[in-house]
Amino acid sequence: MANDWVEVAERCYVRRYDHLDVNSSVVAGDEGLVVVDTRASHVQGRELVAHVRQLSALPVLAVVNTHEHFDHTYGNGALREAWPDAALVAHESVPAAIRATVPRIARAYADDPDDPYGAEVVGTEPVVPDTLLSSLWAVDLGGRHVEAVWAGRGHTDGDVVVRIPDADALLAGDLVEQSAPPSYGVDCWPLEWPQTLELVVGLIGEATVVVPGHGTPVDKGFVLEQRHDASDIAGQLHQLAGSGVPADEALAKGTWPLAPERLVEAVRRGYAQLGR
Ligand SMILES: [Zn+2]
Repeated sequence: MANDWVEVAERCYVRRYDHLDVNSSVVAGDEGLVVVDTRASHVQGRELVAHVRQLSALPVLAVVNTHEHFDHTYGNGALREAWPDAALVAHESVPAAIRATVPRIARAYADDPDDPYGAEVVGTEPVVPDTLLSSLWAVDLGGRHVEAVWAGRGHTDGDVVVRIPDADALLAGDLVEQSAPPSYGVDCWPLEWPQTLELVVGLIGEATVVVPGHGTPVDKGFVLEQRHDASDIAGQLHQLAGSGVPADEALAKGTWPLAPERLVEAVRRGYAQLGR
């Protein structure tokens, strides 16, 4: 995989990293930068700082985490070291979620001792965001403004999308994935994800460049397809639970748009959210 900055829209740069195939982005104005998502460890955050400096001599004014997951947040400390005055921005649910999941991440890597990244991930002391938004945050980068918008729950409690209106670009975090199917994890909201994507679709025009959390940029048609699949999944969960199908039979009974083994947590969470 060629790793370099790609200018996906005017002065909006995305770099795709091999470990976990995660994207970090930089948006440049006349006076400063916003960095979106900081990779999976302090070591990787330091490398990201070097890559940002190769791209621009402007200061980083803000760092946005699209959501709590470690592959988007564990480099925060390195960016804070490099630009101490930069705001660390995320949805208000994110700091507690980062702290709460530290033991789960440690356990996951303890179960997988051969993972070459385990030591650097587990060795990272997460630095949590300190500029918290409930629905909207914006920054003036000089001749350009950038917004972070919380459109509802989906992949996690606190997914935000980052809009660059004058460049017609949107950074979607893991509400949209391109290189793998959308990830329904232990903290997902399968019944609400479709409505959240509906609101995101309202922020996207026919020509908008949409950058997923993982993979290459996509367009409105791609997001509409993922919203369709998310609606299908939520609809089937409602229907199966509503007609008395037990949770442990739901995967076998449904006709799912994703491989059923990817929907284990979607069923567990969906049923729990329906009180089943
Ligand atoms: Zn994620």
